[in-house]
Amino acid sequence: GTVLNPANTKAILEKHLKATGGRVYTRFPPEPNGYLHIGHAKAMFVDFGFACDANGCCYLRFDDTNPDAEKEEYIEHIKEIVEWMGWKPFKITYSSDYFQELYELAVELIKSGHAYVDHQTADEIKEYRENFKESPWRNRPVEESLDLFEKMKAGLIEEGQATLRMKQDMKNENYNMLDLIAYRVKKASHPRTKDKWCIYPSYDFTHCIVDSLENISHSLCTLEFESRRVSYYWLLDRLNLYLPYVWEYSRLNMTNNVLSKRKLNRLVTEKYVDGWDDPRLLTLAGLRRRGMPATAINAFCRSIGITRSDNLIRMDKLEHFVRDELNKTAPRTMVVLHPLKVVIENLEAAEEVEGKRLPDDPSATYKMPFTRVVYIERSDFRTKDSKDFYGLAKGKSALLRYAYPITCVDYVCDKDGEVIEIRATYDAKKSIKPKGVLHWVPEPAEGARPLEVEVRLFDRLFLSEDPAELKDTWLEDLNPHSKQVIHGAFALDNLRTAKPGDRFQFERTGYFCVDPDSSAEKLVFNRTVTLKTSYP
Ligand code: ATP
Ligand code: MG
Ligand code: MG
Repeated sequence: GTVLNPANTKAILEKHLKATGGRVYTRFPPEPNGYLHIGHAKAMFVDFGFACDANGCCYLRFDDTNPDAEKEEYIEHIKEIVEWMGWKPFKITYSSDYFQELYELAVELIKSGHAYVDHQTADEIKEYRENFKESPWRNRPVEESLDLFEKMKAGLIEEGQATLRMKQDMKNENYNMLDLIAYRVKKASHPRTKDKWCIYPSYDFTHCIVDSLENISHSLCTLEFESRRVSYYWLLDRLNLYLPYVWEYSRLNMTNNVLSKRKLNRLVTEKYVDGWDDPRLLTLAGLRRRGMPATAINAFCRSIGITRSDNLIRMDKLEHFVRDELNKTAPRTMVVLHPLKVVIENLEAAEEVEGKRLPDDPSATYKMPFTRVVYIERSDFRTKDSKDFYGLAKGKSALLRYAYPITCVDYVCDKDGEVIEIRATYDAKKSIKPKGVLHWVPEPAEGARPLEVEVRLFDRLFLSEDPAELKDTWLEDLNPHSKQVIHGAFALDNLRTAKPGDRFQFERTGYFCVDPDSSAEKLVFNRTVTLKTSYP
């Protein structure tokens, strides 16, 4: 095979060092063909994080060489979500900024005998590669390739009729050295360059050249690109360009979900979920909407480390970091998801009691009335008592958090036998010490209904831990109960002023975040995570 351990010449290296001052230069290179996901959070942690730690620079570079799949909407979203994650690009660039230079380098490559215009179909190319056979056009004269490439550029050749291929090594055991495609004819309008070009460079042609032109010192990418490293260096060496240091790390995968953009795209466009920012997806937009702080996502990325081993990480690991942060920062409040009315018979007049916002801050408190009618969680009452049950049952007591112990003296059922009201007495002296502590919501004023809110609860999107293993049947593995919407939950009155994005701990039920679907009439909350892990 070809000798592939090229060294930079002194002149190239000097030019590079002059541009960077010897500092670390990295890039985060998303293709704008979808929204970013938690795997990209890892990639950003590596690319931006490494540059940041080394006092270097990290580009946000849109790898926009495939106009079929790329959209302005994705570009705008990616810029915004990178900033939300806390990263500040040194510069924002686009592979398409370099289309002219890339084209000129392609011409140079043809001239030096390292590229040729080919007419094989995709199937023929595949078959020939499998048999290590050369295309019949491989050894055509340089002049002919130059002329045809010019015609490709001028729009005189139809899609599929010609490609520009790098003249690499058709005997190489590495598939990614078998004359990779450098350019294709594509009569598509590009989000940025519009109709200026009808030939587009491939990833393999573009990525290494743009890395080099941007003076990237460390080109960090995921392991599936490892086998393309040989070609990366082959091309830069043939063009006498500076050689960045390439280093690979493993892709992140998460249990019970998918990260491939192709799959995410299907889930979104075929409406299995409610858009790219559906809180059940592991897109960063989805995680944000669900209430996960960017700092917790970054802490998670730090914890999983940067390795070369395959990794399928459990969802509870991410949730651990989210709980850890929200426990310290999300103020506590009380919301009853499925309200059941309790009448406290011996309470004559409402009294004010004080709730706690944050465990570590005794001064963070809120006031609420303890009223004759309060609401508790339906599941905190049972007609049949048992030893391991700490809620209310006839004759049994429980503490209303921040208020008083109450004892159930009776209950009322409707004609279908459903419990609709609890009758109770309270212990003004707090002499009884029940084991159970209940969250509850008072009446804001006598006879008035508490603030009603909508609550959305989420469960794993896929039933199996690794849906990617299922190949073609992955969609059948979707969890039919991944989203549950509760209408008419009762909240403390002081939640009335909550704004989209605000985060809370609802005592005993989890951490919640105000959804952007909220309006002046109705607040909507998403459960970010439960208080304890829900993954066995
Ligand atoms: P997909 O295969 O889902 O389309 P991609 O790798 O093509 O993903 P890009 O937008 O090109 O997605 O990725 C930008 C950067 O993020 C690349 O460096 C890529 O290696 C990295 N990246 C993408 N997915 C993951 C992941 N799951 N874990 C770690 N890094 C990732
Ligand atoms: Mg990519
Ligand atoms: Mg891709």
